[in-house]
Amino acid sequence: MKVTVLVGGVGGARFLLGVKEALGIPGSADHEITAVVNVGDDVWMHGLRICPDLDTCMYTLGGGIDTERGWGHAGETWTVKEELAAYGAEPSWFGLGDKDIATHLVRSRMLRAGYPLSQVTEALCHRWQPGVRLLPASDDRVETHVVIDNPEAGEDSPPQVAIHFQEWWVRYQAKYPAHRFASVGAEGAKVLPAAAAAVAEADVVLVAPSNPVVSIGTMIQIPGMPQALVGARGRIVGVSPIVGGAPLRGMADACLSAIGVETSAEGVGRHYGGRAKGGLLDGWLIHPGDSAAVEGCEVREVPILMSSVAATADMVRAAFDLAGVSA
Ligand code: GDP
Ligand code: CA
Repeated sequence: MKVTVLVGGVGGARFLLGVKEALGIPGSADHEITAVVNVGDDVWMHGLRICPDLDTCMYTLGGGIDTERGWGHAGETWTVKEELAAYGAEPSWFGLGDKDIATHLVRSRMLRAGYPLSQVTEALCHRWQPGVRLLPASDDRVETHVVIDNPEAGEDSPPQVAIHFQEWWVRYQAKYPAHRFASVGAEGAKVLPAAAAAVAEADVVLVAPSNPVVSIGTMIQIPGMPQALVGARGRIVGVSPIVGGAPLRGMADACLSAIGVETSAEGVGRHYGGRAKGGLLDGWLIHPGDSAAVEGCEVREVPILMSSVAATADMVRAAFDLAGVSA
């Protein structure tokens, strides 16, 4: 069976652990999992190219993640960050660990030598062996920026500024309301051909319970991706990141309210839309007790808390069931 999963970072990576478990990998050569990973969070800092969602997936699936934090390396140290701070080198608000920096050094060097991000990712995965083919949604730069009221507004400064999503999310913890999100570079970007093919040819496409705006939303707008999704021969089943009217971890509600979508399983389901009505989804999994009516899409209630890999695998099996496929 060919399974393609659209993912962001922490929520996406946990979901992928469940997909692997549900398919019994390693041990089966019959199944192929491809993760199409958000690149909207990617950023240059200190001359290094940082790909938070790709790295979170790679470390999580490769067994190297810090499970407490959910991102970065286990057993990380912070010497370089402290030294940068001693120089007053900005940005100082981003957690760059020593081990993590090695990943960014290898990536940045390869990018500067002319390799596309997809090939760089493949090379990094030689070490981590994630057991899932990790594909950036695009080799092109597609970066999410956030328009907010200028925090340093003075007489001569503009009333609004656009800052990188990482600065809004990590530095300001989304405390400044977003007026809108801009996908910088998206217009001239192209979906990675292998990612489009993986969506089009999969037996089932799963949409992880990742941030619907800045993880999934960014990806499904990259030119070429809408066509791949419309033409997908398998069914497309998503999992709600919202349970009981709140995101399970993080601040996805701050993103949803910025685009005028209610923070509920129904709000997100309707935002994605039923495929039979020109939207994304054939199926939508919501948590027991939640309700959602999404036209042109079948909705099912199953436990969707990723409290363990086994629980996540059960949820993935329910998604397979809804899609009419079995492992
Ligand atoms: P990020 O890129 O690291 O922010 O991670 P993602 O975009 O992949 O995932 C973040 C989303 O995962 C949040 O909106 C959470 O609501 C959702 N999430 C986290 N844990 C769970 C869980 O156990 N179950 C479900 N259904 N969603 C979850
Ligand atoms: Ca992310």
